[in-house]
Amino acid sequence: MYRQCTRCVMDTSDPQITFDADGHCNHCTQAAKLLSELPTDKEKALSLLIANIQGMGKDKPYDCIIGLSGGVDSSYLAYKAKDWNLRPLLVHVDSGWNTPESENNVVRLAEYLNAPLVRETADWEDMRDLQRAFLQSGVPNQDIPQDHLFFSVIYEQVRKHAIPCWLSGSNLAGESILPQAWGYNAMDSWHLREIHRKFGTRNLSSFKFMSLLDYLGYYCGFDESLQRFSPLNLLDYNPLEARETLKRDCGWQDYGRKHGESYFTRYFQNYYLPKRFGYDKRKAHLSSLIMSGAITRDQAIEELQRPLYVPEDLEKDETIVREKLGYSKAQWECILNLPTHPHEDYPSRHALITRISATSGIKRMFLVALFLLLRGDFSTLSKKISHKWRRRPLAGEGL
Ligand SMILES: [Zn+2]
Repeated sequence: MYRQCTRCVMDTSDPQITFDADGHCNHCTQAAKLLSELPTDKEKALSLLIANIQGMGKDKPYDCIIGLSGGVDSSYLAYKAKDWNLRPLLVHVDSGWNTPESENNVVRLAEYLNAPLVRETADWEDMRDLQRAFLQSGVPNQDIPQDHLFFSVIYEQVRKHAIPCWLSGSNLAGESILPQAWGYNAMDSWHLREIHRKFGTRNLSSFKFMSLLDYLGYYCGFDESLQRFSPLNLLDYNPLEARETLKRDCGWQDYGRKHGESYFTRYFQNYYLPKRFGYDKRKAHLSSLIMSGAITRDQAIEELQRPLYVPEDLEKDETIVREKLGYSKAQWECILNLPTHPHEDYPSRHALITRISATSGIKRMFLVALFLLLRGDFSTLSKKISHKWRRRPLAGEGL
């Protein structure tokens, strides 16, 4: 039976949603909790965080790394990094789907910051074969190949330049809600390889997979030389206002919708996912905005009345996606009608990594020591052994 939350706009299109006696769903209840846990004095927390980042980056070429997609969140983060006098390395990964607006926005931001920009372009033949394999597999998260490459390239640059901080544009204002069933972890290279092994047609010679050690280092936090922060949580961040600021000060171009920076993601989120799985990601985004006070529930409901696509735009984007991936119209129709599968139908390291992430105490110390040993990082290992095992938390960490 269909049911919608009385506080946000999430509904039973998430198969795992639950409601309390007031009709509030588990998502907005969790979002309210996360928002209430933010520091009360955000300004002070932000000053401390900036001082920490600058301290960690002292005597290093960069004090932080920012992955720049050209979307509003990462662009605004980069914009603020200038105000904060940080020295970021900007990284942009072009997986082959950049829209002209995203190209413009990445260049404009790099110019505005006068910061070095690493641009990595995916080997298109590899990317296409991997994406075709994912489409054949029928899993929901078709953005995994692009996202995996993004994480892999960022982490490669972090290690290459010994960058101490990774600043993320993720934020509770616009992203506090995302049902687990609607997405899937993109960092597990085994999951990608297994899907590609079953449905791919060529050797992926150039695609940069994330190694298991990198996965453990980043996702499980074993790499303690890298700190991860989401500073937008320490601002009164409003993505709608941020767009206007970026347009005014940087010549940033609006996409009109979230994730308009990629032809594929735009089509995938606004057509493929709702059509094939009934997941409309706008509901999660708008619900997040309701919970952060950026919009009202009535505004969100009004926004949801709008069509996901204007028919001409849909046809245009579908043609771009279909032709670039090398499908005829008839083949594409078959792809859109293949049986769907949850990610769990394909092998992954998900259970293993979840168990490793949950370890604590002596077990975790042992695993971190093993990680450092396998990495060949003997100096950190010996420092840890000599009474420095326990690391003091830094201001803003875990936000
Ligand atoms: Zn709710």
